[in-house]
Amino acid sequence: MKVTVLVGGVGGARFLLGLRELFGPTAFPAPQDDASGAPATEHEITAIVNVGDDAWMHGVRICPDLDTCMYTLGGGIDPERGWGRRDESWRAKEELAAYGADPDWFGLGDRDLATHLIRTQMLDAGYRLSDVTAALCRRWVPGVRLLPVTDDRHETHVVVAKPDGEDGERVAIHFQEWWVRHRAQIPTFGFAQVGSDDTAPAPGVLDAIADADVILLAPSNPVVSIGAIVSVPGMRSALRQTRAPVVGISPVIDNRPLRGMADECLSVIEVESSAQGIAGHYGARSGNGILDGWLIAEGDHAAVDGIAVGAAPLLMTDPAATAQMVRAACALVDVPLPETNKGVR
Ligand code: GDP
Ligand code: CA
Repeated sequence: MKVTVLVGGVGGARFLLGLRELFGPTAFPAPQDDASGAPATEHEITAIVNVGDDAWMHGVRICPDLDTCMYTLGGGIDPERGWGRRDESWRAKEELAAYGADPDWFGLGDRDLATHLIRTQMLDAGYRLSDVTAALCRRWVPGVRLLPVTDDRHETHVVVAKPDGEDGERVAIHFQEWWVRHRAQIPTFGFAQVGSDDTAPAPGVLDAIADADVILLAPSNPVVSIGAIVSVPGMRSALRQTRAPVVGISPVIDNRPLRGMADECLSVIEVESSAQGIAGHYGARSGNGILDGWLIAEGDHAAVDGIAVGAAPLLMTDPAATAQMVRAACALVDVPLPETNKGVR
């Protein structure tokens, strides 16, 4: 079975743990020689990962959502923070601060820094981000194929009031600066993707959508994770045209996002932070939208013409509980799950 998932960072990575639990690990990167005699993996999980949060900091390229997925699936994540490396230290950050280097608000750990240094070297040598990601995953063995949605620059910037500017003057700042430095607590007017004029999906992304048996939208931030992925030219029409059903999983429980500040992002684009609001925002594929199914938390409510709505417990407490969410999502659009998979039944 081929399962393709659109994911952001923390919410996306936890969701992938449930998929891996259910379908078993996908060999990624593909083994360099097939002489091992190892059986081909039965199922393939492909994660199409947001790159809207990516940024240059202190001369290195940071890819927060790719790294959160890679570290979480590879067992290297800090479980308390939900991002960055476990057993982290911050000596390099302290040294940079002692030099007065900007930005001083971004958490750059020492262990994490090694990932960014290698990535930056490879990018400088001309490798694509998708190749670099595969190379880094040789160490982490995530058990899921991790594909950046695009190899091109496609950063989310945020339009805000210009500090000390004239009335009505606006300026665009990087999403990281808005989210991490300002905690999204400044007057905000919109989001814009900044990058190359001919941004295109990375190799393998469109095929992963066209050839899938089912496509899932993780319970990730609908605006700056899923929204940023779908805004890559070609992605929206690929989702609308695939023969595979597309099912979204709600990131809200009791009409409140669980972690992070999805409601801050939703209010900027004037979408209500509720299962109903987000379903309407994604829309039905039979209309102009991207969903066939929408899985919401028990107790929440959503009704949109053309979208099959189902309810299930949506708290990702552990991979087994999350695997049950995946089962419920597939059942909603009548996608049969294989009998022989490992994990919960
Ligand atoms: P980020 O890139 O690190 O912000 O992570 P994502 O965009 O992938 O996911 C953030 C979203 O995950 C938040 O809006 C949360 O509401 C959602 N989320 C986190 N934990 C859970 C959970 O256990 N269940 C559900 N349904 N959503 C969750
Ligand atoms: Ca993110």
